[in-house]
Amino acid sequence: MARIPPSPSSSRPLQALVDLSALAHNLAQARARAGARPIWAVVKANAYRHGIENAVRAFGAADGLALLEADEAQRARDAGWRKPILLLEGVFEMRDFAVVDALDLTVVVHCEDQLAMLEHLPAGQQVKVYLKFDTGMNRLGFPATQAKAVRARVAALPQVQVLALMTHLANADQEQLPGPTVRGQRAALHALAPDWRGAWSISNSAALFLHPDGGPEAVRPGITLYGASPAVGTSAASLGLRAAMQLQARVLALRELAPGETVGYGSRWTAARRSRIGVVTCGYADGYPRTAPEGMPVWVGGCRAPLVGRVSMDMLTVDLTEVPDAIVGSPVELWGPNVSVDEVAQRVGTVGYELLSRLPARVREATAGAT
Ligand SMILES: *Cc1c(COP(=O)(O)O)cnc(C)c1O
Repeated sequence: MARIPPSPSSSRPLQALVDLSALAHNLAQARARAGARPIWAVVKANAYRHGIENAVRAFGAADGLALLEADEAQRARDAGWRKPILLLEGVFEMRDFAVVDALDLTVVVHCEDQLAMLEHLPAGQQVKVYLKFDTGMNRLGFPATQAKAVRARVAALPQVQVLALMTHLANADQEQLPGPTVRGQRAALHALAPDWRGAWSISNSAALFLHPDGGPEAVRPGITLYGASPAVGTSAASLGLRAAMQLQARVLALRELAPGETVGYGSRWTAARRSRIGVVTCGYADGYPRTAPEGMPVWVGGCRAPLVGRVSMDMLTVDLTEVPDAIVGSPVELWGPNVSVDEVAQRVGTVGYELLSRLPARVREATAGAT
């Protein structure tokens, strides 16, 4: 019987091209704002889908990596990361402390359950802790009213070393909202432990880039390291950032349409003139939003061309009538240096964070650029 040959990696022309030099450049931009403050490069969700290994290669100048899952921490260590790694949600179960020990991780402690787990650790096991307080986000962290008691309990544990007190900001990107301000949350954190002489950790990207008045602390930028904006209405380019990912497809086919003809499912778009339509190798199963409206820009043949018709599972269609240079095989950027992920996101009512981080495994990763 004939053997089926081992399956080759897909030759379908669609990839997330990760620019290592852009990652390194963006970290340098964060460093310019952080000054001497330590930087935790936030690499959760597979480095916002840019790849933990790529992050390790590009973020060598960071002081630590921050993420959520033990297997991502393992990947970072396997890729050669020797500096600290912070588990942003800490441990979930007692057995996680084995990994914490083996990989030398620092853990956030944000709740009573985690505190109880610390109290049950064998005396010999040392654990480095970031103690998290809630100063208005109302998500994770001990309430300010418990600060004294929590700190006293932790101080009584010889196996625990508290490195920093931390909090997370609710509105660093949009201070006109009702709710806590950056200044208010900073003050609240400092007020709950006026005697504390160790480190603090407060700022995310929006605070680091948009509120440069922060005091000494270990900052935690994420999204800006990938060249996307932390705040709607502020472009990444205006912050000196470079897109680190180009979602790159190709023109798979071309169609000439007569006026009155329509394109795709539901015939949503009708040609008003003779039109040249390009079929592009990217659809909603590739993480491109199906809700993309008519006119959403893509970059092809050195120009912006408008999306026409509905996005389908594996393909989308664009009007190339005014892009004579585009041919079958032309590269198409869905987002990247020429069409920002923030612009795409804004037109479908979301943020760059979501489009980047939810890109499915089906999209291959490739790297470019030196660090
Ligand atoms: C994700 C995350 C960050 C980074 O936020 P950005 O807005 O991407 O800079 C910082 N701190 C914590 C606790 C986070 O979960």
